[in-house]
Amino acid sequence: MAARDRSFGRPEKFCENIPEANWTISATVTLTDDRIAPYIERITGRDPRSGRIVTGGPCSIKDSSWLYGFSMSRQPHFAAQDPQKDLVVWLYGLFSDKPGDYVKKPIRECTGAELCAEWLYHLGVPEEEIDDFAHNSARAIPCNMPYISSYFMPRAAGDRPLVVPERSKNLAFIGNFAETEKDTVFTTEYSVRTAMEAVYTLTGVDRGVPEVFASSFDIRVLLSALYHLNDRKPLHEVEMPIVTRLIGKAVLSKVKGTYIEELLAEAKLI
Ligand SMILES: Cc1cc2nc3c(=O)[nH]c(=O)nc-3n(C[C@H](O)[C@H](O)[C@H](O)COP(=O)(O)OP(=O)(O)OC[C@H]3O[C@@H](n4cnc5c(N)ncnc54)[C@H](O)[C@@H]3O)c2cc1C
Repeated sequence: MAARDRSFGRPEKFCENIPEANWTISATVTLTDDRIAPYIERITGRDPRSGRIVTGGPCSIKDSSWLYGFSMSRQPHFAAQDPQKDLVVWLYGLFSDKPGDYVKKPIRECTGAELCAEWLYHLGVPEEEIDDFAHNSARAIPCNMPYISSYFMPRAAGDRPLVVPERSKNLAFIGNFAETEKDTVFTTEYSVRTAMEAVYTLTGVDRGVPEVFASSFDIRVLLSALYHLNDRKPLHEVEMPIVTRLIGKAVLSKVKGTYIEELLAEAKLI
């Protein structure tokens, strides 16, 4: 369709020239006993069996050659999971062209047990115990996702078709590869919003698609993000160069008694 008419976009932009240093591999690891859980708790500060979210989102291992990361949600993760026994973790490596730090091969050549071993190494499990833990205390299922980062490929206007192409009466595109206003890819919301837009437009439903929250232009959201990104520290506890600190102090004295001071206090920054 795209070869016949440019209003259907340029799909080749999203499936060709995918960089070598790319995220393609992830794995689901089931921990089958409690030998690994203490190492997770040491890093996250949360007991994986507490019934609360454990990592609060992806946890990046910044020294890892694979730029490895893991995420552990509230357990049990799956309805059918045995809550007394199993714990489920998700692993992913963002650099798939470099050898690992414990497993000396690129992530895409690894077995599930090797993916698990590399993670255990970064968790701080003693090296002499890693292989035993990886084989006897965990079950890791790798998943190859060759197009997972396609959503993020550089693109220009027109590379993605509009949800409802101009003059289209009975055909629409839905999902993250269709063009809609303001939204950001890699979300379920994006797909849902495009589906609403498609149905409302083609069937003439007089209803607005829920707007994308304009968070990037809302100073209150940005200040709150600053607080959370700095491990929920007020400004005076955040490490910064002395000059920046002095400038900050001068600015704070100028905003005393103003609305800006109120905003900073609301975001817990002062
Ligand atoms: C590892 C990972 C983590 C993610 N994390 C998050 C997150 O935390 N939050 C978030 O909001 N989003 C996240 N996303 C993104 C989100 O999952 C996707 O954006 C969303 O699932 C896209 O939904 P969709 O219905 O548009 O497409 P899909 O879910 O891809 O569905 C398309 C369906 O079409 C089927 N299909 C393909 N070709 C054909 C064919 N020719 N005939 C019939 N059927 C076909 C496929 O099998 C598939 O079932 C994540 C994605 C991944 C991969």
